[in-house]
Amino acid sequence: MARQKGCRICKKEAFIHLRYANLPLCKEHFVSRTESVVQEAINKFRMFSRKDKLLVAVSGGKDSLALWHIIAKLGYNADGIHIDLGLGEFSRLSSKISRDFAEKHGLYLHMLSINEELGASIHSLVKKRYEKPCSFCGAVKRYILNKASYELGYDVLITGHNLDDESARLLGNVLNWDEEYIYHQYPVLPKEGKMVKKVKPLVFISRKELASYCEAEGIEHIKIACPYATGARSLVLTDIMEQIESRYPATKLRFVKGFYKLRDRFMPPEKVILYECPDCGMPTSSERLCRFCRIKNGVKHDTAQTD
Ligand code: SF4
Ligand code: ZN
Ligand code: ZN
Repeated sequence: MARQKGCRICKKEAFIHLRYANLPLCKEHFVSRTESVVQEAINKFRMFSRKDKLLVAVSGGKDSLALWHIIAKLGYNADGIHIDLGLGEFSRLSSKISRDFAEKHGLYLHMLSINEELGASIHSLVKKRYEKPCSFCGAVKRYILNKASYELGYDVLITGHNLDDESARLLGNVLNWDEEYIYHQYPVLPKEGKMVKKVKPLVFISRKELASYCEAEGIEHIKIACPYATGARSLVLTDIMEQIESRYPATKLRFVKGFYKLRDRFMPPEKVILYECPDCGMPTSSERLCRFCRIKNGVKHDTAQTD
């Protein structure tokens, strides 16, 4: 995205050159174009309306803060929710940046802590268990976000998954030909019982565009990575997509948009019966305790043994 030529619209000095669209833009036109692309995604997939009670999952990273900023600028009323994962300096900074952003923009942010919800931090769980950190961190975050959205009465939970996340995930799903995962990879997941509606308005915006958007709009975001981020399969897939994109611009967009058009040709998987977890009452795919409650019980057991 080298900065070259003048803005295609006003001829002022270009702030960015969007290679996939061969489009040089000044700061102002880049910002308004990004916001329009998000609005179009919201409309196209009927994500939410101005009447809905909206909650944005805020991590302190560029994607979720840009998302919250754009949603507010587009005139939607959305609160935020942040989970302190207990990952040392990374979490301390993420929470501070999220809180500062909310304060600066007069937005309401719910602050939750994994320690309070689960009785342990991700750090301490990683030390005790042999599961991959991102696997149970992801599961715990999804559970807490859904439960909080449901209990606090929000209609829609909005997440900052971007074009890079979606194209890498699609590549991974296609490589495995996992029809169920492929079918469910969509920017909107409807409400089902206690599962709140979930949407991803940034699916057509790349992470580089989001970084430039934050720079243009002066949005502070966390710049260090989670200590467990290295080596994740998703990063390898993101890298591969980036390499293809650098040789063949617009591949990521074509890949993701093409899939959304063709998705209906995939058979919807058989509907999974959802049971209520006997402990917390939240939906789960088996009649036993949900995964969150099983992890929580493990934590209680570990604590009892060390006492
Ligand atoms: Fe959690 Fe993995 Fe993300 Fe770190 S990189 S916050 S462990 S999902
Ligand atoms: Zn311009
Ligand atoms: Zn449960």
